[in-house]
Amino acid sequence: MKRAVFPGSFDPITKGHLDIIERSTGLFDEIVIAVLDNPDKRPMFSSGERCEMISEVVEQMETGNCALKVDSFSGLLVDYVKSVNGQVIVRGLRAVSDYEYELRMALMNRHLEPGIETVFLMAAEEYSYVSSRLLKQVFQLGGSVDRLIPELVEKRMRDKQKREKE
Ligand code: ADP
Repeated sequence: MKRAVFPGSFDPITKGHLDIIERSTGLFDEIVIAVLDNPDKRPMFSSGERCEMISEVVEQMETGNCALKVDSFSGLLVDYVKSVNGQVIVRGLRAVSDYEYELRMALMNRHLEPGIETVFLMAAEEYSYVSSRLLKQVFQLGGSVDRLIPELVEKRMRDKQKREKE
C-alpha cells in the first residue's frame, strides 16, 4: 500500500495542482492532499475553506483504484507524513525557479526523515506558468482566470471579492 502526501498552500487550488493530483493517482494507492494551515501568510481562503473547495473539486475526478483524501496540517511536514503513515511526498515542478527551493526542501526533509522519499512530477505545459499567487493578483486586478482554475473556485473568489467590497 503506497500512500503519498501532496502538501501545499492551495490558496486556491488551480488546474495545475489538479493535473498533478490526477497523474499521481496512477502511481499510488492513496493520496492525501494536505493543506498547510498557515495563518501567518494571510491566505485568501482559510484552511477550512481550501479543504472544502478541494474536496468538492476532486469528487468529480476519475481516480481508478486510488483513494483521495483531503486534510489540513501545521508544523513539520515530515511529522505530518509520518502521522498518516505516508511513504512519499509529491511535489510539482514548474520552472527552474521552483527547482532550487524544492531541492532544498527535499534534502532537508530527507535529512529529517530518511525513510520518506520526495517525488517530483513535471507540470503540464499548459499550466506551467500558473501559480495561486499570480492568479490572485490577476483576479484582483480584474483579469480573467477562467480555464486556469475550476469553475467552483472562481465562483468562490468572486463571492469573496463581492463580500469584501460590501
Ligand atoms: P507551496 O506554498 O507549498 O508551494 P502551492 O499550493 O503553491 O504550495 O503548491 C503546492 C505544490 O504544487 C508545489 O509542489 C508546487 O510546485 C506545485 N504546483 C503549484 N502550481 C503548479 C502548477 N501550475 N503545475 C504543477 N505544479 C504546481
